[in-house]
Amino acid sequence: MAKVILKNVGKSFGNVIAVADVNLEIGDREFLVLVGPSGCGKSTTLRMVAGLEEITSGEIYIGERLINHVAPKDRDIAMVFQNYALYPHMNVHENMAFGLKLRKFPRAEIDRRVKEAAETLGIGHLLRRKPKELSGGQRQRVALGRAIVREPRVFLMDEPLSNLDAKLRVQMRAELAKLHSRLQTTTIYVTHDQTEAMTLGDRIVVMNGGRVQQVGTPGETYNRPANLFVAGFVGSPQMNFLECAVTIEGEAVYLNGGTFRVKVPEVKAGPLKPCNGQNVILGIRPEDVLAGREAERFSESAFAALVEVVEPLGSEVHLYLKSGAHQLTVRAEPSLSARLGEPLPVALKMEKMHAFDRNTERAIF
Ligand code: ATP
Repeated sequence: MAKVILKNVGKSFGNVIAVADVNLEIGDREFLVLVGPSGCGKSTTLRMVAGLEEITSGEIYIGERLINHVAPKDRDIAMVFQNYALYPHMNVHENMAFGLKLRKFPRAEIDRRVKEAAETLGIGHLLRRKPKELSGGQRQRVALGRAIVREPRVFLMDEPLSNLDAKLRVQMRAELAKLHSRLQTTTIYVTHDQTEAMTLGDRIVVMNGGRVQQVGTPGETYNRPANLFVAGFVGSPQMNFLECAVTIEGEAVYLNGGTFRVKVPEVKAGPLKPCNGQNVILGIRPEDVLAGREAERFSESAFAALVEVVEPLGSEVHLYLKSGAHQLTVRAEPSLSARLGEPLPVALKMEKMHAFDRNTERAIF
C-alpha cells in the first residue's frame, strides 16, 4: 500500500489540454474518487497514474518513487476497467491467474490467491466457467478478482460499474465499499456518477474542463461547494440557482429576485454587504425549499410559484416550479398536494442558503 502524489500534472493531446496543473495527494489506504462530466479529464488523469498515457508536464509519485518514466507493469498498480477486458478463451480461474503467471509466481501461491479472492467476491463456484457463461455482474467480479490477486499497492478503477444495470450497480457499489474496508488498498476511482462518488469516496475530486474544481470529503463538497460548478454537480436533484439583487436596509441585507424578496440571516449578511446594488446567485438545495402549508408558516418570506412538473417517487416527491424567470426544484414529503398549473406557496430555508459571485462563479459562502 502506498500514497500517490500528483504534482502540477498536465496532459495535452496536440492543441487539446485534457488535464491542467493537477495537484493531489492520495493518502495511504485512502479511497479517492475523481468525478466530473464527460471529457473533464478524469480518465486521462487515472491513465497517467497507470502509465497508459505519457505525462506532458509535472510529476507522479507512488510511495516515495517518481514513476513518470517507470513502465506500467513495474508501477505495482492494478487497474479495473468499465469493459472488464477478460480473455474470452480463458476460464475464470485462468483469467484471474494470468497476471501472476506472467510474473512467474509459484503455482501454489497463484492457486491460494485466486481461491481467496474468489471467495471474497462470491465467485468461488464459477472458476471453471468462461466469461461468456457469466452475467455482467459476475464478469465485473472476475475483473476485480484479477486486480485483487495481484495484491498491488494501488487500485486504479475507471468506471468499473458503468456497464451494470441500475440495481446491480447499487449492489456492487456496496460490495466495493466492503472490499475496500477489508483490503485497505489505496484506490483511485473514476466515475461520472456523483452518487457513486459520494457513497464510495473518503474524499472526492470534482473536475471540470481538465481542472480540479474542489477536493474534499463528500460532506464538504455537498455542504460547502467551492463554486457554482461543484454546487450544481454534487447533489441530486441539483441545487437551485436564483439570480438576485443585493439590497441593504439599515443593518439588514435582502435578496430581491423580482418575484420574491428574502432576508439574509444575520450570520450570513456580512459577506454580502460589499455586494450592495449588485446581482449574486442565491443557491438553495431542493430539500431546503419548503412548499404548501409548511411554507405558509413563513408568511414574511413565502411566495407563490407555478407547479410545472410533479414527480412522485414513493418516499418523496420532486416538484419543478416556476416563479417569474426562476426555475425552482423542491424535494417534499409525498403527502404534499400540488396540482399542475396551479400556484403553490414556497419559502426558502435561508439559514441553508449559499451565495455565488455572478462573474467569478466562486462561492461567497
Ligand atoms: P469520459 O467520462 O467521457 O471518459 P473523461 O472525463 O474521462 O471523460 P478524458 O477521457 O480524460 O475525459 O478526456 C479529456 C479530454 O481529452 C477530452 O476533451 C478528450 O476529448 C481529450 N482526449 C482524450 N484522449 C485523447 C486522445 N487520445 N487524443 C486527443 N484528445 C484526447
